[in-house]
Amino acid sequence: MNKPLILVVEDDSTVRNLITTTLKSNDYRYITASNGETAIFAASAQQPDIVFLDLGLPDLDGVEIIKRIRSWSQMPIIVISARSEDSDKVSALDAGADDYLTKPFSVTELLARLRVAQRRISSAAVKTGEAIFRNGKLTIDYGAGCAFLNGQELKLTPTEYKLLCLLAKDAGKVLTHTYLTDKIWGSSWDSDMASLRVHMATLRKKVEKDSDIQYIQTHIGIGYRMLKL
Ligand code: CA
Repeated sequence: MNKPLILVVEDDSTVRNLITTTLKSNDYRYITASNGETAIFAASAQQPDIVFLDLGLPDLDGVEIIKRIRSWSQMPIIVISARSEDSDKVSALDAGADDYLTKPFSVTELLARLRVAQRRISSAAVKTGEAIFRNGKLTIDYGAGCAFLNGQELKLTPTEYKLLCLLAKDAGKVLTHTYLTDKIWGSSWDSDMASLRVHMATLRKKVEKDSDIQYIQTHIGIGYRMLKL
């Protein structure tokens, strides 16, 4: 079995060592880079499966690195940020990052994020060309344009259905408010953000009713993620 190769981009050697020690003891393969240029080179030369990316690097801004990698690859990128401001995480996610970790983080959380990214890779591999989406008790029939929970058709509004499809398409990935409102209404005004919250609340009520299964996770100030069950 081929263990996934992780690229760890971090200029702080203490944090870098914490990550690589964790990866090593959990049987992951890894390579490291301590600045942006090396990171971009390693990403293209070694084709890692997943990237851990610190946003504050000595030579390049992390968001710039995400944009450069995204111009040619969809490899999952998990941002590691010391900045607690939501706007930094949001710009990283908007640039195409999949997920984020805020420093200080626990080893358990790091491994959990890694598993989410791995599930995203494996679901992307089977997703191509598929007309039916399945996740737990939730099913979306793209051809028929409807969704089912436990075999029962969900009575969704067109906006709720669209939101559900967007979340399903990128299951496992955090989608920002701006990304979602832009996909649905083509804009991201404050009024769109408010509508998004309302539609998401009604969607969640329908999808998560009579069930202790959580499908949609809220990231306060950032966006939403469909959990891959
Ligand atoms: Ca740093």
